[in-house]
Amino acid sequence: MTATEPRTEPAPGPAVAAPYPGPRAQRLIERMRAIEGAGPRTGGSDPPLVVDTALGSILTDPDGNRFVDMAGSFAAATIGHSHPAVVAAVRDQVGRASHVSSASLSEPRIAFEEALVGIAPPGLDRVLLGMSGSDANDTAVKLARTLTGRHEVIAFSGGYLGRSTGVVGLSGKPRFRQSVGVEADAHFLPYPYPYRWPLGRADDASVGEAALGLVRHAMDDPASGVGPVAAVIVEPIQGNGGIVVPPDGFLAGLRELCDGHGAVLIFDEIQAGFGRTGRTWSSEHWGVVPDLMTVGKGVGGGLAVSAVVGRAAAMSHWAPGTHTSTFLGDAVNLAAGAAAIGVLRDEGLVERSAALGRRALDTLAGGLAPDDGVGEIRGRGLFIGIELVGDRADRTPDPDRVARVRRTAFARGVVLGAGGHHENVIKLCPPLTIEEDLLDTALGITIESIRGTA
Ligand code: PMP
Repeated sequence: MTATEPRTEPAPGPAVAAPYPGPRAQRLIERMRAIEGAGPRTGGSDPPLVVDTALGSILTDPDGNRFVDMAGSFAAATIGHSHPAVVAAVRDQVGRASHVSSASLSEPRIAFEEALVGIAPPGLDRVLLGMSGSDANDTAVKLARTLTGRHEVIAFSGGYLGRSTGVVGLSGKPRFRQSVGVEADAHFLPYPYPYRWPLGRADDASVGEAALGLVRHAMDDPASGVGPVAAVIVEPIQGNGGIVVPPDGFLAGLRELCDGHGAVLIFDEIQAGFGRTGRTWSSEHWGVVPDLMTVGKGVGGGLAVSAVVGRAAAMSHWAPGTHTSTFLGDAVNLAAGAAAIGVLRDEGLVERSAALGRRALDTLAGGLAPDDGVGEIRGRGLFIGIELVGDRADRTPDPDRVARVRRTAFARGVVLGAGGHHENVIKLCPPLTIEEDLLDTALGITIESIRGTA
């Protein structure tokens, strides 16, 4: 059954037998603790979710507890977990050829690349593959630096581009690079975030203009300390930064500045792209086309696929052998990716995200009063942030409350994401295939968990 077919029975909802973890999950957590190096989030103090099956929007643990995946497993389960079309494509491919070195070709590699260009913004017609979002951003920045012969990059506060050595230095959160011994590698400017604009709360239009003014100053003023700039890299809607939607005109302004200065404009659509925000690419909300666009997460249908898609003029200067990695052309992953692109189109998931997202925003606005400590509810499509504050007047971030809300919701079978400059934003990014009744149930539990922790 596809997500859009009418169902006759309600979707089976969340169900958790207290206390989590049950005995089977507990045993796996203990085995993990005995063997894994420190660093992954599963090493935190809260017991991690142990996933036995992940189907559609439901994660089931080995003890039979059922959770609604409102975090979309790092926003990557865009078409739902183990979508039948992906399972079929993987089954078919794995029996024929799985590992094809990137020096050779397989049909799935070309099919994926053609399908991706088929849904890419106009003029972006070249592809280079990767296996993670970090990979794709790493490639995009390398392309920009070698194309322009320049090194400097402008990035933004709150930005998240991945953890590889090549891009963690461009992260808005310095702790990500400090903790692994990498230096900053960008000039950081404030992302236009009206709720937390550094010069005080202002209307969206003024914040957009001011943020753009700072980029203009950095690029135009010979004494700004910045430049010459190889690339401006930006998430058209920030994910980890707390689902921050830029004001109209900001991305178009970046486009103009990059054109004027011969800099490469890179849009990171790894989290906000592939239908997540109710458009195929989040930049389409403003009709702005970058030189290079990076994609990952949902585009692999649950398998490890990422890519840079771009203008031929920005992707034709490398000699053969410049870009390689052993599993870059993995035929199973790419067959899954081609299937995922088909699902997005055939099931109308972009439109579904827009419609369900509007409904979810209404439900949240109706169920949460400002005095519940809710500073702002914002988003596009099924990409929604709920910013929690201690005091609405001074907007004091309340990250502890976000942690409590997530624990409360988890105990009732709803997995929520989190992010934000201050880790005080609850993130909702469920599969775009989520059944409407399941979404309503999960939103109800989210609202009650927020109200219950006031
Ligand atoms: N860019 C963005 C916008 C992301 O959200 C992420 C992952 N959260 C990445 C890049 C890095 O992707 P990956 O974790 O697959 O390396």
